[in-house]
Amino acid sequence: MACRFLAPRPRPPARRGWLRSLFTEPAIGSAARRALPADARSLTSCVCHGVAASVICASIVRDANTPALVGEATRAGTGCGSCCPEIAALPVKTPVPETRLMQHFPVFLDLQARPVLVLGSGEVAERKAGPLRAAGAEIRFATHFDESLLDGCPLAIGADAPDAELQALAAACRARGIPVNVVDRPALCTALMPAIIDRAPVTIAVSTGGAAPVLARMVRQKIEAVLPPTLGRIAALAERFKSAVRARLPELGARRRFLEAALAGPPAELALAGRDAEADAAFATALDAADSRPAGIVHLVGAGPGAADLLTLRALRLLGEADVIVHDRLGTEAVLEMARRDAERIFVGKARANHCMKQEDINTLLVRLAREGKRVVRLKGGDPLVFGRGGEEAEALAEAGIPCEVVPGVTAALACAAGAGIPLTHRDAARAVTFVTGHRRDGGVDVRGLVQPGQTLAIYMGISTLVPLRDGLVAEGMAPTMPAAVIERGGTPQQRVLRGTLESIARDAPGWVMGGPALLLVGDAVGRGARGWLVAA
Ligand code: SAH
Repeated sequence: MACRFLAPRPRPPARRGWLRSLFTEPAIGSAARRALPADARSLTSCVCHGVAASVICASIVRDANTPALVGEATRAGTGCGSCCPEIAALPVKTPVPETRLMQHFPVFLDLQARPVLVLGSGEVAERKAGPLRAAGAEIRFATHFDESLLDGCPLAIGADAPDAELQALAAACRARGIPVNVVDRPALCTALMPAIIDRAPVTIAVSTGGAAPVLARMVRQKIEAVLPPTLGRIAALAERFKSAVRARLPELGARRRFLEAALAGPPAELALAGRDAEADAAFATALDAADSRPAGIVHLVGAGPGAADLLTLRALRLLGEADVIVHDRLGTEAVLEMARRDAERIFVGKARANHCMKQEDINTLLVRLAREGKRVVRLKGGDPLVFGRGGEEAEALAEAGIPCEVVPGVTAALACAAGAGIPLTHRDAARAVTFVTGHRRDGGVDVRGLVQPGQTLAIYMGISTLVPLRDGLVAEGMAPTMPAAVIERGGTPQQRVLRGTLESIARDAPGWVMGGPALLLVGDAVGRGARGWLVAA
């Protein structure tokens, strides 16, 4: 890929520095974002694809917070690196995405035998005191505020006292760093009282940040409904065996696997039923039999087209259990959001002309991670076995004796057809569907045998070879007027559809696509979709 300077003359190196430093950090944090040059319009850039600096800045200001995402949004820095070797050498680990600030941080206070000041004496004060008393607090009621009342208090409540008293209480608490809650006066509060679900020792607190206490209560009711009333007994069971489990299974991964099984299995059921002695016996037996060896496994998981709600339930569960997630496709961020927060994420970025890591190296990485005893999710766009090289990875794992499971995903052809309202088969128009790649390994196209009556072609990776594809298909006997469509980012909220004929699509699509993954559908059935009787979701 050639590198173009957008400016008529090269800029001095100092002007390029800001961009380099931006791309060599694993994440573009808020500080870097604030430091973006205000005069980006006047800057030019020489990153791959000749993308202007102002476009890069705009993508960062919008939401791209890693160099990889900037690359995805702008096609900049996607690794040709001919102008900027640092970009080609981007680190392969992607950071956990920056999340928005939490409004409040929940903590659980130990109030056993501690004094808590409650200012007020009426019904409201009594209502607030109840749950605090239930947590073991000694309530210090007062109707007039005096600062000495706060001595020794880890928490204070303002209830039904006169305004001036409540103000004084809030000010004194702030000055002393004591959390204070003043009923119905959010401006005076530094602590909120949540809706509580008590399954001691399991405690769940729900807060809407003061926005809608009624909603918090509704959420509490929903959670109450799904949690067995005796849930606390399972926690107590785990507590009784805590040191025995630690001694028997010193390795964290093995310990977590054992506990996940035991706390969802027969010992937990016995504990829930109140049969503690039997629960202990079952737990002890399971612990004796527990395997302390790390049991690594690789799941080749299809992420679907990139919309989180098109994941399978199995994929969702595995993402929640994985120790490490090895992912390639950009655009799977929505899916990665569903993964365990502390799971390690490794980006091995594979997209055409942007091979961050060679396939053999990916295979070696998967084997190594599994040998370390990790539960690995190898997340792939669409389905792992449809143009995803999942077969090669499965082979490498089998050779290394690593267990491997494949979890199917919604492949692009299905997502695009559904999203665009195009039937892939139709009684009157198509009785076969062919999934085919638009280019051979050497970059050329091969359409031999692809023109058959009553067939829909779903052509993957075909946008860069549209013209030779059209020529080949026409030479094989397909009419240039054959209905066709290109679907970009199919199945995601950013989906775009271009409908036409083989001829018009080959002419118009190259200028129409915006850089997202796009699929070409060709065949009589595609025209059926265009009639509009299939309503897209
Ligand atoms: N395993 C993937 C395909 C990987 S090959 C699957 O089963 O879907 C990459 C090609 O898939 C892209 O070039 C594009 O042609 C197609 N593709 C992947 N996701 C897509 C999407 N959301 N919309 C349209 N095409 C997509």
